[in-house]
Amino acid sequence: MQLSEKAAYIKGLIEGLELDPTDKQTKIFKLIAEFLAEVADEVKELEQCYDDVCDQVDGISEDLSGVEDLLYDEDFMDDLTYSDSDFEDDLAYEVTCPNCGNITYLSENSLNEGVIKCPECNEIFEFDYSEDELDESEEE
Ligand SMILES: [Zn+2]
Repeated sequence: MQLSEKAAYIKGLIEGLELDPTDKQTKIFKLIAEFLAEVADEVKELEQCYDDVCDQVDGISEDLSGVEDLLYDEDFMDDLTYSDSDFEDDLAYEVTCPNCGNITYLSENSLNEGVIKCPECNEIFEFDYSEDELDESEEE
């Protein structure tokens, strides 16, 4: 029996007693029966919500396992991995460190900041960047 059915059953039993409607105890019995019915309704609603959440979690879980399948799919990951040409597009400029001679590849954004930190020796140097210098050559 569902909770709501039990609550209705109890309510019916109380009504069947044909208690004196002016009696204070009768009033309390009726209040209790109403309360039980409300609780049963609330529980039913919560169960519905719980089912919905479970369905959503199942859906997310399925989506996630799809993503996992892709992650373990080497062909797909190869497509995602940057190729050399992608890399060069972003890191457009070659800069030689005046301290250690290490060659660093920089994106235009980092160049525009004007100050460069060599990843090799951590030397910080300024890069006077203008279109002309870049165009001319890479001699030092
Ligand atoms: Zn350096």
